[in-house]
Amino acid sequence: MKIISELHKGTDLVLSAEGVNRSFDGFKAINDLNFYLAEGELRTVIGPNGAGKSTFMDLITGRTRPDGGTITFHEDDGHDIDLTKLREYEVNRLGIARKFQTPSVFNNHTVYENILLSLNRPRGVMSALFYKPTKKDLEEIDVVLELIRLTDRKHDLAGFLSHGQKQWLEIGMLLAQKPRILLVDEPAAGMSDEETERTGELLLSLRGKHSIIVVEHDMEFIRQIATKVTVLHQGHVLKEGSFDEVSSDPTVKKVYLGRQ
Ligand code: ADP
Ligand code: MG
Repeated sequence: MKIISELHKGTDLVLSAEGVNRSFDGFKAINDLNFYLAEGELRTVIGPNGAGKSTFMDLITGRTRPDGGTITFHEDDGHDIDLTKLREYEVNRLGIARKFQTPSVFNNHTVYENILLSLNRPRGVMSALFYKPTKKDLEEIDVVLELIRLTDRKHDLAGFLSHGQKQWLEIGMLLAQKPRILLVDEPAAGMSDEETERTGELLLSLRGKHSIIVVEHDMEFIRQIATKVTVLHQGHVLKEGSFDEVSSDPTVKKVYLGRQ
């Protein structure tokens, strides 16, 4: 079912998922899912618990395999790559980075070292720490630190950061890898209102530089960052559109917003 060409003529797509299915013990977690992400787009994906949001990210990143359907990464040079045939690290190497819900930073290393470690994609922590960074490396680290607003915490141990700051640091560690696609699962969970807003600003500032999918529950946050919203329900796209289009849709209200 090649419907890409009809629907997205003239759009630069970076990712297409078509007719994707994934069942767990007969339960359809993902059910005939079609999803298209444009280059540089910031997309929010919402939906009730169990809608299949995290499973969709698992499918994109090679953590889970679909029972059927295609998930295609469209490379810069026009090549299409079937992600469903690749292992997790192979997908990551293509420039598809995923941020899980819980931050996983190296608490016993400084903020600077954490970013340095990701910059060089090291095999081991020790070899990476003995690596002498080039001038360009140092400049890149400073750019990332500015973006995630942790410049003044550069030489502090990551363990001393707040929960929100650790989330930003981890986003910074992914940015240091210069991903083409960034997948972010519920970044605002457990954050203060101020941290949540700051996270929204951070993601907005990345628009155009990376193609981003953000899964989130916090409606205020979605209102802040949303350009195009996809509503997932029972593993299928229920509605796609602007925040206003989506939030005023009666069916969406019924399955999701009504429960808020
Ligand atoms: P969401 O992230 O939207 O809350 P999930 O993608 O985590 O939803 O889950 C979708 C459905 O698939 C849920 O019913 C969940 O229990 C089921 N599911 C997800 N992963 C697995 C798995 N590895 N084994 C069995 N069931 C799973
Ligand atoms: Mg989830």
